[in-house]
Formats: sequence, C-alpha cells, structure tokens
Amino acid sequence: IKRVLSGVQPTGSLHLGNYLGAIRQWVEFQDNAETQDEEGNLIRTENFFCVVDLHAITMPHDPTELTESTLSSAALYLAAGIDPSKSRVFVQSHVTAHAELTWLLNCITPMNWLERMIQFKEKARKQGESVGVGLFDYPVLMAADILLYQADQIPVGEDQRQHLELARDISRRFHDLFCKGNKYKKLCKAAGVPSRPVFVEPNAMIVKSGARIMSLSDGNSKMSKSDPNDASRINILDPPDVIREKIKKCKTDAQVGLEWDNPDRPEATNLLTIFQAVQPGRTREDILNEVGDMTWGQFKPVLADAIVNHLEPIQERYKAIREDDEYLWQVLKDGADAADEIASRTLKHAKIAMGFAVPP
Ligand code: ATP
Ligand code: MG
Repeated sequence: IKRVLSGVQPTGSLHLGNYLGAIRQWVEFQDNAETQDEEGNLIRTENFFCVVDLHAITMPHDPTELTESTLSSAALYLAAGIDPSKSRVFVQSHVTAHAELTWLLNCITPMNWLERMIQFKEKARKQGESVGVGLFDYPVLMAADILLYQADQIPVGEDQRQHLELARDISRRFHDLFCKGNKYKKLCKAAGVPSRPVFVEPNAMIVKSGARIMSLSDGNSKMSKSDPNDASRINILDPPDVIREKIKKCKTDAQVGLEWDNPDRPEATNLLTIFQAVQPGRTREDILNEVGDMTWGQFKPVLADAIVNHLEPIQERYKAIREDDEYLWQVLKDGADAADEIASRTLKHAKIAMGFAVPP
C-alpha cells in the first residue's frame, strides 16, 4: 500500500495556483488509486488531503476568519473533485500527533538547516522584527505531516521542493540517531511492538504544467494567498465579473503576439500557461495556432472566458456543499478518525525509538 499526502493552508481564499499546482493533481491521484506493478500485483494508494491550519497561524492571522477559511478550503477540495469515499479529508489540528511529532523532530533538527529555507527568508522579510518561532519551524511541522503517514509520494508545487528535501533529511537523521544497531530493536521488543522503520523517505511529485502559476501583477513572483493585493490572483470562488476585471487589468508587456518561454516576457508565458491549464487536453501548438497572433486586447477576454468556464462547475458544487455544513463536518470527522489511527501508530514508534516511557 502506498500513501499520498498533501495540504493547503487556510490562510485566505484558494487561488488558481493552489488549484492547478495542487488540488487538481490530487484528484488525479485519487482516480488512479489502484494500479499494478510490473508483476501484475495490485498496488492500492491511500490518499490523505489535509487543511493545514497549524501552518496557517505561522503568519499573523485573524481568529474570526480561521474557522471559515478552514471549512471553505475543505469544501473546495470536495468541490474540485476530491471524493470522501475514496480519499481522506481532514483538518490538521484535529489530529494531535502533528503537533506532538513536530516537537520530537524539533529536538533533532539543526537550526542551520532551517536557516537555509527560502520560504522562511521571503516571508520573514515581510514581517521584520515580529517574526515568530512558528514561521521558522514551519518546515519541521511539514516534515511531521508527511512522516506521520509514511507517505512516499508528496504532490506539491515547485515552491515546496526545498521543504520536501528537508523532510527527507530529517527522516534520515532520525533513523541514523535512533534506529541503527540494536538499541531500537531492544526498545521495540520491550514495548511489545515490531521494529519496523519509523518513517518512510518521502518523494516529491512536482507537476510540470501549472507547477508554478505566477502573480497577475508580476510575472516573476508566485501567485500567493498572502499577497495583500487581491488583484494579483484569481481566487477559485471569484465571480465571473471579478475574474474578467482582474484579467483585463493584469500586467502585460508592450509586444504584439504571444509566445511561451521568452525570459523577457514572463507574463506571456504565465497567461498562456493558465490558458492551457484550464483547457485540459490542449497542446501548446494548438493554443498558439488559436491565439499566438493576437494582441493582448484580443487575448484577454478569450482567456477570461476560458477561466470562468472552467471554474463555474466547481463554484456551483461549492455552493451546494456549503448550504449545510453538517455533511462537511461529518466528512472531516471521518477523515480525522482515519488519519489519527495511522498517525498515532507512527508517533508511538517514534517515541519508543527515542526512549520515552510509552504506556503498555
Ligand atoms: P501562502 O501565501 O499563505 O503561503 P500559498 O498560495 O503559497 O499561500 P500554500 O497553502 O502555501 O499556498 O500552498 C498550498 C499548495 O499550493 C502547495 O502544494 C503549493 O505548492 C501550491 N501552490 C501555492 N502557490 C502556487 C502557485 N502559485 N502555483 C502552483 N502551485 C502553488
Ligand atoms: Mg505558500
């Protein structure tokens, strides 16, 4: 059995980058949950999709908005095609093992590994003096998320690659420190559990197209929930007129005609990438044939229509789900129960390996 785990922070409204770079890929994994290996054996994949609210408080947040953002994110997972009968959907803070394992991992993670993290440097710069310890520790919490489920495949956008490598390093360090030689075996025996590896080394699955959707106001920076300028992103729940207005005003350049991969024209690459991503199945060639010779003024309404059409059914399903949150709460409870079962088993092994007095 294989496990896939991924999540989005409820730090604001989810945008096209989250959808194209993360959630839409999850739906594909879910729908390919049963595959065969070379020998024809069935491999089943268990999928866990998490709303990472503990991560969301690493930046200043508004307590009156966190609950709504959490429910809204979970509902968007479902609206985008995550099916709770096939995948587990849960809220990170509902499974206490995440916070607990983070503490254990904190104590074996060298500070200088975290000082190298690009996302920390970027987000810390925006906050000046008041940067919290939690922001520094964000990648360790993420390592705990992944390692708890012994997930071997982690679908993320390009921006999370460095954090994923850190999770691998932490997992290796833990095994080097606590699982080599006879000590671990003895401790497991004393605790009456099998001495299996505590963690599985995770692999990043970076998607090619849509892996990094850029801001509408700057083709060189990532589309982000935390950008204070709402016009820099298309939120999945933006109404059609808002989407049209944002595309109309988005940054372009003074050249005529559209092209991919010209380093001097990041906006052209980004908007073409979005155009292609919201029309699954279309090739670059096919798209350039249609819009390659257009001016920006001609292309923008065509692009806006394509986005609106693609998001419409998702928005409708979202509305239906949010009519009554009872169903959503039930999905989250079932998800948390299933997640907790696996997470507490891993946590127990980690504690035993470190020598804690784990009650029999
Ligand atoms: P924040 O600004 O609060 O960090 P974010 O927009 O970066 O928010 P996250 O919750 O940090 O969103 O990331 C959730 C998932 O979405 C991750 O898998 C991440 O790789 C992916 N992702 C985020 N932004 C983009 C983007 N612009 N393009 C593609 N994928 C993205
Ligand atoms: Mg982010």
